[in-house]
Amino acid sequence: MNVYDSNRMVDILKPLGYSPNEDPETADMIILNTCHIREKATDKVFSELGRLKQYKEAQKAKGKTMLLAVAGCVAQAEGEFIAERAPYVDMVFGPQTYHELPEMVANAIGAFGKNRVVNTDFPNENKFDYLPNEQAEIGASAFLSIQEGCDKFCTFCVVPYTRGSEYSRSVEQILDEAKRLIDGGAKEINVLGQNVNAFHGEDKLGNEWDLGKLLFAIAELPVERIRYTTSHPRDMHDSLYAAHRDLDKLMPWLHLPIQSGSDKILKIMNRKHTADDYKRIIDRLKKDRPDIEFGSDIIVGFPGETEEDFQATMDMVDYVKYTSCYSFKYSARPGTPAANMMGLVPEKVKSERLTRLQTRIGEHQHAFNKKCEGLIMPVLIDRESDTPGRLVGHSEFNQSVYISGNERLYGSTVYVNILEGTPNALRGEIVTDEIITTKTG
Ligand code: SAH
Ligand code: SF4
Repeated sequence: MNVYDSNRMVDILKPLGYSPNEDPETADMIILNTCHIREKATDKVFSELGRLKQYKEAQKAKGKTMLLAVAGCVAQAEGEFIAERAPYVDMVFGPQTYHELPEMVANAIGAFGKNRVVNTDFPNENKFDYLPNEQAEIGASAFLSIQEGCDKFCTFCVVPYTRGSEYSRSVEQILDEAKRLIDGGAKEINVLGQNVNAFHGEDKLGNEWDLGKLLFAIAELPVERIRYTTSHPRDMHDSLYAAHRDLDKLMPWLHLPIQSGSDKILKIMNRKHTADDYKRIIDRLKKDRPDIEFGSDIIVGFPGETEEDFQATMDMVDYVKYTSCYSFKYSARPGTPAANMMGLVPEKVKSERLTRLQTRIGEHQHAFNKKCEGLIMPVLIDRESDTPGRLVGHSEFNQSVYISGNERLYGSTVYVNILEGTPNALRGEIVTDEIITTKTG
């Protein structure tokens, strides 16, 4: 979602004369778009700011001004603290206010006699109603944010506090954006939300749509692939199962976080479902779409987690055989209920569990990648190549696929013979010159 937000910041800054610049030495403005989900991510912000400050000073020595901004959820949670601790930062603004960037920039450069900007309000208006159409470059695989914020309050999570309460964009706005992305060359649309399957946007007649219905409508557009992320087990619904059953365009890979396989831990996490509920969802999806595979998020070392609880998580990993997974050591976040819980798991135990978990996840991932050897798979070449002659794309199961080919193929879907399944990716060769589709359709 931060990638999506960053692109939208490009959109709103473009009319002011700014454009993306990879080189911090020549930049007129640097925006650090931050994540507050774990302590490690937050710590990085201050070390990164110290580094970026040097560019600002170098510009100043040349008589130029460089604006330095902190955006995103760290800005939202720690706005005043950042302003205090890093007085050289010109703008601090949360994820719901970046549509106000033109005004903030004007203030920061002193246009209205003011200077620094600290903007961590949750405005009454919605940013999506004020953002201009896409100006940033549209890739072969594009994100489309449809839902933001969260009202679920899992006890470990900062999202409800930093992104605010749950909000769904209107169906019309979403479909218009999807059309523009497709016109701009997107072959795959990845529909985003903090809890994307809690989507409940309204159409023009005031009827409420769920995610399943929305996916059916997006599939009517000339898009090749559709994905959605991140979903919550509690928000699975009938029309979403139907979408998995009926829509070939909806990819057979779903990121469905479990967090823990232990009912006791799930309860203290306030996830409001059991391990068995989750298994039933997996089973139903497999029944509707037999080739479907899964990804997940897992936390180890949540307060109170015993070895037995951890084993339940390992059992879940073996049950689902996730083909890729994000796994984390529990990180206490200030202001969340879990931060005050007893039964802290020692750091050493957390690290040891994480290693065991990641080894097991890695085994399943490698086994699945190996199973793909010898298959002919459609691959969307969706990443521009750093190395001439080497292309990177994605399989329907979201595996990275490395192939040789001309960079002109960027944005095309080609058939690839999978030669090797490595622990983290696939390597293959293009079967024929036949291209299933090109960037232009
Ligand atoms: N809405 C999604 C997750 C969004 S946060 C869901 O409910 O599943 C992304 C991931 O970060 C979470 O799935 C969780 O695994 C991880 N995470 C969030 N807070 C964390 C914390 N305090 N410590 C460790 N991992 C955390
Ligand atoms: Fe955080 Fe997801 Fe729980 Fe919401 S549902 S509080 S975003 S982990």
